[in-house]
Amino acid sequence: LEAAPSPGNVEDLYELLEKLGSGHFGVVRRCRERGTGTFYAAKFVKTRRCWGSRLGLERAQVEREVAILRQLSHPNIMRLHDLFASRAEVVLVLELIAGGELFDFIAEKETLSEEEAIEFLGQILRGVEYLHARLIAHLDLKPENIMLQERDVPKPRIKIIDFGLAQQLEDGVTFKSLCGTPQYIAPEVINYEPLSSATDMWSIGVITYILLSGLSPFQGETDAETLSNVVAGAYEFEERCFSQTSEMAKDFIQQLLVKEPGHRLTAAECLVHPWIKPLSRKQVLSRSRSSINMRNFRKFNARRKWKLSYNMVSACNRLCRTRLLCGLSKEDEELRCCESDQEEESSPPIALLRRRRSSS
Ligand code: ATP
Repeated sequence: LEAAPSPGNVEDLYELLEKLGSGHFGVVRRCRERGTGTFYAAKFVKTRRCWGSRLGLERAQVEREVAILRQLSHPNIMRLHDLFASRAEVVLVLELIAGGELFDFIAEKETLSEEEAIEFLGQILRGVEYLHARLIAHLDLKPENIMLQERDVPKPRIKIIDFGLAQQLEDGVTFKSLCGTPQYIAPEVINYEPLSSATDMWSIGVITYILLSGLSPFQGETDAETLSNVVAGAYEFEERCFSQTSEMAKDFIQQLLVKEPGHRLTAAECLVHPWIKPLSRKQVLSRSRSSINMRNFRKFNARRKWKLSYNMVSACNRLCRTRLLCGLSKEDEELRCCESDQEEESSPPIALLRRRRSSS
């Protein structure tokens, strides 16, 4: 770790409170700093005890996440406040993000104009621009990782979370990886080609497309079909769902869902695209008159939430079966399951969906 973790145990300095969520490798709990009374989120990550064990995350992987978080200080990016490490576990004390996911917040609204949606999108872009200026790619941008600091305020603030797949890019060093979630990953991930900050921009294109229409541009019946749609770059703006969408919004998306990474808009370029930063009165009006397809968006979000809980349950079932059939010890099981978009539990997870890294 770049700087030494705090000495002692997390409970010496923080009172641990209720569970806020869980990830593949541990839980996140609300906690209160004893000295100041300030609330934070403590993320407990189990690390592998021995080489070859499949339980927990590799130590180096957690260290990479920590090294990246340590460098970051931006209003739209979750901050790392403190760190504890023992042999089998790392505890990240993070800024508490209490407003839930952006998509859940939006789904509760009656209506939302493009202009209001852009308030949020602009914040996502500013956070991502900050990351990319530091040559950091998030590589897992998706609705579950875009949260709100607080929701009961006039202008909720976006916070980008989960830097578990983030990568520090280096000039002249190629980085390849086969991980992510099929709906949101760029073609270069699937093709095992070099990744860059442009890989995040593709995901922002997908998120924007969904936000406006409630449709997922590449979603197929199965993960394999979704992946082949992504590689083919096969998407369209179905009039049925995009009837309330401005032409500027479609242009914005079209400049992100471009197969060639180098031809996509960068985050900095997005921020001066006329849809985000209108120049004329006509452009301002067009944004306030166009709206997102709330009916469809709510349907998308309900389905997304259902799938997330379904995947959790089926991952547990798979685990129990594996244990029964193979008689494996608990330590031998891989808890980190793929994040599949498909609903069929029976299909084997494909290697691509595993969250692993490799570089060359
Ligand atoms: P994943 O399995 O999605 O990769 P992970 O192990 O990397 O997850 P996170 O996504 O960082 O873990 O956290 C898991 C969940 O805990 C989140 O979905 C969120 O609900 C909650 N959470 C994480 N960080 C915070 C935070 N700073 N404040 C509040 N809740 C948080």
